Amino acid sequence: MQFCGDYHTHSRYSDGRQSVMEIVKAASSRGLSEIAITDHGPLAAVIGVKSAEQYLSIREEIEVLKVLYPDINILLGAEANIRDLHGTLDIPDTILQQLDVVIAGLHPYTLPTSLQDGRDIFLQNSLRHLGRKQRQAAIAANTRATVQAISSHPELDIISHPGLFFEVDIEEVARACIKYQVLFEINCGHEHPKVSDIMKAQRLGVSFIINSDSHFQSTVGDLQYGSSMVQKLAIDESLVVNRKGGGGWSHWAKKSRLCIF
Ligand SMILES: [Zn+2]
Ligand SMILES: [Zn+2]
Repeated sequence: MQFCGDYHTHSRYSDGRQSVMEIVKAASSRGLSEIAITDHGPLAAVIGVKSAEQYLSIREEIEVLKVLYPDINILLGAEANIRDLHGTLDIPDTILQQLDVVIAGLHPYTLPTSLQDGRDIFLQNSLRHLGRKQRQAAIAANTRATVQAISSHPELDIISHPGLFFEVDIEEVARACIKYQVLFEINCGHEHPKVSDIMKAQRLGVSFIINSDSHFQSTVGDLQYGSSMVQKLAIDESLVVNRKGGGGWSHWAKKSRLCIF
């Protein structure tokens, strides 16, 4: 299948190995009409932006690039880290509201809101190999944190790589995505979720977005894994919001709806 945009990429502002300009150039040369720069939130050790204010500098860079590359719609986004069981994100609302695309996900080495949250999610997960009970407790905590992030952030557009790093109950997350109109990501960089989990989400009726999660110029717009899943599972292409001809960002982003009304 063909795509109009890739809405999950990382630049050197976080842990990507490419400049914002290189991402735009790569996207443009692959024929995409839209690209989002979505660097990691600040509170994941090593991989995050230095501070949430950094997104405002990226915005300035994007404004210049828009003049140089008028044929591609360049969007500013972020991949925020979920920090606790309440679904708190590591980017303040005042900044979230200025982004075009808001992604959230669970990532290792995120600074938890409190010691209790550190124990409930991040320590629990590191102990999950100890036994079934521990694993189930970890899945319950990860699912709760993810569902809370979905239900408590009206700006949220996408849940990134559901279940990667931190196992979740895919069906519960999928149901929350449907209820709050959040897109369920098929992440090509990590080739995640696996087929059986995509099938579960498909059966429940989620809307999918297929992204690269690119950290290198060579993978910007590489959406092959998602494309092969669509084919393999006979997913109705109309359920993939970034299909070519589907209208792009302005048809699914919460921010764009706020602009219209
Ligand atoms: Zn991620
Ligand atoms: Zn990412």
